[in-house]
Amino acid sequence: MATHRSAQSLPSFVETCPFCPANESKTPPEVTRFPADVNEPWAVRVFPNKFAAVSSEVEPRRNLQHLWRRVNGFGFHEVIVDSPDHAACMALLPDAHVAKILGVFKERFNALSCDHRINHVTIFKNHGADAGASLQHPHSQIIATPVIPSQVRHRLHEALRHFDEVGECMFCHMVEGEVAEQTRVVLKTELFVAMEVFAAATPFATHIFPLRHMASFGEITAAEISDLARVLRRLLAKIYVGLENPDLNFTVRSAPSDYMGARHFHWYVSVIPRLTRVAGFELGSGMFINTVLPEAAAEFLRGVSVEKGAGAGSGQ
Ligand SMILES: [Zn+2]
Ligand SMILES: [Zn+2]
Repeated sequence: MATHRSAQSLPSFVETCPFCPANESKTPPEVTRFPADVNEPWAVRVFPNKFAAVSSEVEPRRNLQHLWRRVNGFGFHEVIVDSPDHAACMALLPDAHVAKILGVFKERFNALSCDHRINHVTIFKNHGADAGASLQHPHSQIIATPVIPSQVRHRLHEALRHFDEVGECMFCHMVEGEVAEQTRVVLKTELFVAMEVFAAATPFATHIFPLRHMASFGEITAAEISDLARVLRRLLAKIYVGLENPDLNFTVRSAPSDYMGARHFHWYVSVIPRLTRVAGFELGSGMFINTVLPEAAAEFLRGVSVEKGAGAGSGQ
């Protein structure tokens, strides 16, 4: 199937791109790198964001004045360059390379979570201008903050309420039901399931859940990283081919740092193609008009073939 905005049409190297090899000096000093196997200087690089949203140069300070609560801009904001190849869209990378990126995600997630001033770590990717990407070279980002965002706090609160009432993880229960019902499942392996979101706010919003209960992304094992790489890459490829390389975001939605091992929360990856614009009704009401039923989206994505030959696995 043709794509309108094929990432493959980008050149592999752009002399002026700060994320391309030989331009390492144009980025802030490196935090870590995943070494390359052959012929390339590195496979994945991490460094502080030059245009960071938060700064580790200041100490976190909270302030309450009348009704106004403030926290200063303390935090860590890092860039993870997915590959030395300027044209290496994650959907088209080998699974093994995606596993290297996810391994770096885990390393940085756990390192930043260890800082006692940090309470929450968000890992995310912006793919395309409509998803917020300002540089074409494929990269991901990680922002560590001293506060737990209100959206995360709400999710945690609801999960705890369910746990208190029912005595089990809300997400494990939901995943079990979704896997049994099948209608919203896009693909499934022994360790992960990718599925359309029930009552999704936007078309093709897809979540990937680990089948093993884990509150924090930092608890992921090496075997799970390999499997998640395969599931995430296949899902991104299905979206790339089936929806013609839309702009998209994905985020790792993990429990905050202090909730590692919690029985009531369960991390997942959220993949959101940017196919629609939020308009007045959504802003005014908080209700979203979604013109694609999740069940129809799942059926469509299940039907998009992205595997060459055998090895598609279950749930295809
Ligand atoms: Zn580049
Ligand atoms: Zn669970």
